[in-house]
Amino acid sequence: MSGGRAELAAHEPRFTGSFTQQQPIPEEAIAAAVAVLRSGRLHRYNLAEGDVGEVARLEEDFAAMSGARYCLAVASGGYAMGAALRALGVGPGDRVLTNAFTLAPVPGAIAAVGAAPVLVEVTEALTIDLDALAAKARAGDVLLLSHMRGHIADMDRLMEIAAAADIRVVEDCAHTMGARWGGVWSGRHGAIGCYSTQTYKHINSGEGGLLLTDDADLAARMVLLSGSYMLYARHTAAPPPKAFDALRYEMPNVSGRMDALRAAILRPQLARLAEDCAAWNERYRAVEAGLRGVDQIALIPRPQAEAFVGSSIQFRLPGFSAEKVRSFLAGCLARGVELKWFGAEEPQGFTSRHSHWRYIEGQSLPRTDRVLATLIDMRLPLTFSLDDCALIARIIREEAQRGG
Ligand SMILES: *Cc1c(COP(=O)(O)O)cnc(C)c1O
Repeated sequence: MSGGRAELAAHEPRFTGSFTQQQPIPEEAIAAAVAVLRSGRLHRYNLAEGDVGEVARLEEDFAAMSGARYCLAVASGGYAMGAALRALGVGPGDRVLTNAFTLAPVPGAIAAVGAAPVLVEVTEALTIDLDALAAKARAGDVLLLSHMRGHIADMDRLMEIAAAADIRVVEDCAHTMGARWGGVWSGRHGAIGCYSTQTYKHINSGEGGLLLTDDADLAARMVLLSGSYMLYARHTAAPPPKAFDALRYEMPNVSGRMDALRAAILRPQLARLAEDCAAWNERYRAVEAGLRGVDQIALIPRPQAEAFVGSSIQFRLPGFSAEKVRSFLAGCLARGVELKWFGAEEPQGFTSRHSHWRYIEGQSLPRTDRVLATLIDMRLPLTFSLDDCALIARIIREEAQRGG
């Protein structure tokens, strides 16, 4: 087969761009970072007289954009999820519900507080199976819901199930910053929303995380946990000092603060988030259009109520065996299109599936396994042009048709 492919190669266009090249940091953000460096005041609490500091400003900006009462900036998305769970009282031996299709930092955050994930099946739409959630509702009183790859479950029904079963919901919005369900920001349906500002997410500070909540008690707990050294009065997007009165003796200081340098480069990026989301969606729609109507490819439907951010795209190859998927991936790669596969036996790159997390109790998830077996995933960096997207879709289409 490889011989045949080599002969054909001359007629087949190749994509030569990079799937991991992000946009540069905006000049305005670079200038803000340089100003922080010149000041020497990189720690969030190291403030000049009368200054609020870049970190508190970022928290104010994000709270205002999302409509949340409180915001806390932290060191990573994983740290944010751990702090959220701990603030909700999750500890050693507890069980936390979570959807089985997610990335390793999610079960990792549950393990970090000594708790055990209870995995819930996902559907062909890549969102949590709400009937399975309702059936498992008694297995835990916190749900860490991961909006994996930007797919949002029916949040109205999910919140009804959670309310009926007394489950508190933490949303992992690593892939949904700027997305909405029914007009409400992703991360604003549950008790706490967690975001990541790691390089591959929607705003880029290398590493970083953000937390949103309307609950003063949870906000105060998370500020103390994040390592406030009793300087919580310097937080301008946190509850007033009296919310901390009793908690300050109770919450351990588990340092995971954000620093002024990262906050400085994030603020201008936050200001252009809506514009970037529109650009991602244009690219998403271009690839999706190129894959539509191909017999071998099942696109993931996007519900009307979901205003998503297309920073990546997924599709399934329902009739493909593992062997066929492997040869499809190799064919795409030979033409410069780098795809991820959630069905691989071994964890690779950024993909992983529940059977790879051997530190947790093995769980039977036949529906999820069936979905992941042929699930393909591709990032859509903003450095791709719309022509790039059309070419990539063409390559995927041709390789899928060859394999079918
Ligand atoms: C990236 C990511 C996170 C957070 O990751 P950090 O690298 O810790 O910022 C959480 N959930 C998902 C699904 C992610 O992809």
